[in-house]
Amino acid sequence: MKSAAAPDNERERLEALRILAILDSVPEQAFDDLTLLAATLCDTPMALVSLIDADRQWFKSHYGTELQQTARELSFCAHAILVPGEIMEVPDTAADQRFADNPLVLDGPRIRFYAGAPLVTDEGGALGTLCVLDHRPRRLQSRQRAALLALARQAAAQLKLRSMHRALEAALESALTYQNELEEYQSRLRRLNMQLHAQAITDPLTGLYNRLALTQQLNHAVARSQRSGEMLSLLLIDADYFKSYNDHFGHQIGDEALRQLAQVIRAAARESDVVARYGGEEFVVILPATDGDGARALAERIRADVQAARWDHRDLTISIGVVTRSAAHPRCTAELLIQDADVALYRAKDAGRNRVVAAERAES
Ligand code: GH3
Ligand code: MG
Ligand code: MG
Repeated sequence: MKSAAAPDNERERLEALRILAILDSVPEQAFDDLTLLAATLCDTPMALVSLIDADRQWFKSHYGTELQQTARELSFCAHAILVPGEIMEVPDTAADQRFADNPLVLDGPRIRFYAGAPLVTDEGGALGTLCVLDHRPRRLQSRQRAALLALARQAAAQLKLRSMHRALEAALESALTYQNELEEYQSRLRRLNMQLHAQAITDPLTGLYNRLALTQQLNHAVARSQRSGEMLSLLLIDADYFKSYNDHFGHQIGDEALRQLAQVIRAAARESDVVARYGGEEFVVILPATDGDGARALAERIRADVQAARWDHRDLTISIGVVTRSAAHPRCTAELLIQDADVALYRAKDAGRNRVVAAERAES
């Protein structure tokens, strides 16, 4: 017996088989159809789609025999793939020194006739064969040879389809992975944007809205009030004698006091009121849909809460300027509301501090 040598392209051939992931796969109708047709057209009892693995031949389809695989050294097909373009025909295995003492000839299926057409890839290598086998010596007619070659081309086309299918699946998988990464990245970016936005509108010392956010919120409030026709009120709050507080206890303790002051104001205001740090020791509260009485009452509550709060170093008081405008009032703009509240605030300071003064009582 003479085993076949490995073809020159053995490494590429095995790699192509590995990529196909076809060895030990389940039977498929397409290949079973081809062995049925091959056996029928060549009038043989057996036909195989045989794939030559490193040390075995494995049958993707086996018609007329229960054999699943054999050792490569016994393989007829391993000889056939050495000449990819042609059918290898062995009319009588007993008369061929390569096969005469092969166990597959002497025992088992007792193969006396073999004809195998290589399954050729686009690169020109052969992964295996479509072969027909018989228990008696014989020869194929030329039409049968042509048919066997045609069916082998079909089997090779099936293998190519399988390889394209697997490449598409791999591409799809990597596209999905890429898409997931992209979505992850976008959501990180969104979170970062939200954080940046929050930072951009927050006063770092007190956690209240900063001056920028105040301007935006006040413009919104004015626009809403103009749409709804409701009154809009605004409080401008300034800590009394805060310079002296700083001078006595230092800037850091001054900062703590400002933080606490911010908390007391936020707690005293309603949920719907917008509380912002206007600058330094000054705060603004926007009171949407609030008339003069409501605004003065709320301002008074804030003033009283600040006075009643427990302060670590020295009691703190505030003065508040209140302004209330109907939407139709010509001075109902963001800028003028603050300007007019400021005038009222200075009147509160002049009047002795720790008090609430409304800009124009008649208006409310
Ligand atoms: P008035 O009752 O007239 O408002 O007196 P005042 O001392 O509060 O007014 P003035 O405007 O003279 O001083 C405000 C002080 O607020 C000046 C500054 O030392 C202090 N201040 C402003 N911003 C900060 C801040 O961020 N932290 C601290 N600790 N102090 C600040
Ligand atoms: Mg001030
Ligand atoms: Mg002050």
